Amino acid sequence: MTYDSDFLIVGGGLNGPLLALALARSGLTSTVIDAQPEARLAAEGFDGRSYALALASVRLLRRLDLWEGLEDSAQPMLEIKVSDGRAGEGPLSPFHLHFDHAEIEEGPMGHMVEDRHLRHAVLAAISDNPLISRLNGEAVVAQEAGAQGVAVTLSSGRQLTGRVLVGADGRRSGTAERAGITRSGWDYGQTALVCAIEHDLPHHGIAHQFFMPPGPLAILPLKGRRSSIVWSETHANAAAFHALSDEDYLTMLRPRFGDFLGEIRLAGARYTYPLNLTLANSFVGTRLALVGDAAHGVHPIAGQGLNAGLRDIAALAQVVTEARARGEDVASALVLARYQQWRRFDTTTLALATDLTNRVFASDNPLLRLGRDLGMGVVNAIPGLRRSFIREAAGLTGDLPDLMRA
Ligand SMILES: Cc1cc2nc3c(=O)[nH]c(=O)nc-3n(C[C@H](O)[C@H](O)[C@H](O)COP(=O)(O)OP(=O)(O)OC[C@H]3O[C@@H](n4cnc5c(N)ncnc54)[C@H](O)[C@@H]3O)c2cc1C
Repeated sequence: MTYDSDFLIVGGGLNGPLLALALARSGLTSTVIDAQPEARLAAEGFDGRSYALALASVRLLRRLDLWEGLEDSAQPMLEIKVSDGRAGEGPLSPFHLHFDHAEIEEGPMGHMVEDRHLRHAVLAAISDNPLISRLNGEAVVAQEAGAQGVAVTLSSGRQLTGRVLVGADGRRSGTAERAGITRSGWDYGQTALVCAIEHDLPHHGIAHQFFMPPGPLAILPLKGRRSSIVWSETHANAAAFHALSDEDYLTMLRPRFGDFLGEIRLAGARYTYPLNLTLANSFVGTRLALVGDAAHGVHPIAGQGLNAGLRDIAALAQVVTEARARGEDVASALVLARYQQWRRFDTTTLALATDLTNRVFASDNPLLRLGRDLGMGVVNAIPGLRRSFIREAAGLTGDLPDLMRA
């Protein structure tokens, strides 16, 4: 049986193309299909996010030969400060968390990378790779898996065949749905307002997370005197703030932000992302694997969504590469089950931990507030506990795939 590619990857966001690059290292071919036209995905303002990429994720990008081109535009994250706050009062509590990379030997906990740089590097790399084909501007509308292989049908009616189908098609994965995989999750009733700002004072590579009753506000250092803002509010507040003029928007942001970075200005466009939790009830099916947000869409509170997707990629690439070396069929249920076993427990734990953190910190109940403040004080006071949080933030805990090891 001949196939168009070994892997048919539905979704050309970030996880899909990065998986294709990881598979290509082992000589496996992929076709990456995305419904969006190439020019749209590659446009400068396509996505306003910046990602806190953990050290383990940076190692993966290095192995995929992407880091060299990204490093100059990436901001090392040297410290993380977490505190309780209320709008208008700034960070309130004397109990806070402070994580400093100097407490671990591996260097910065991670880097902040802007989507416009990462996406550009990823798209350029798959275009240049002879083992990867790209198909843009056509949605996958049907799929079929049989004993011999998988086939997908595109909106134009064209069909493609492969050994394995991968759903990297985001939180509302049609690939999972068509395979009959159900999902669990809920809406957070929150929307993230995202933008970049310029400020007068240097950030010194420190990331801040203020927990406020409607949702957390993250201030994440970018290259230069700029920071990325992820400001979670109720859907109604977020819609109202998003509708404001730039100046009025800043007027709402300033009291939440405080003045520790001096005067602030917007640096670029503003974006909104509605927040929900969505977990696929299985990460695999017949000749099928789900990766990234298609498998697990989580709250951005800990900046771990893409990091978790990158672990999926590194784990799946390793599982199929090892299976192939042993002469196994890479699409067999046994091989794909190894991938699920590796990743499903980890990502479910992450989803539940972020969910719980959001719930506990989004409450203004004085008792809960006291409890969480004391909890932060305790973690902060115990170096061993603090270090384990730092290692977690750096993505160094758990069973790391080879592509993420030092
Ligand atoms: C506000 C916010 C901040 C975040 N910050 C961080 C952070 O700091 N660190 C971090 O690690 N993570 C972060 N994340 C999470 C991260 O953004 C996501 O995990 C990541 O972008 C998911 O990428 P993906 O490739 O899996 O999915 P997507 O980016 O959703 O890509 C899916 C692609 O599939 C395509 N598609 C869908 N259906 C079809 C079809 N039928 N046919 C063809 N193509 C199809 C779509 O066009 C799309 O391009 C954040 C998330 C949010 C909301």
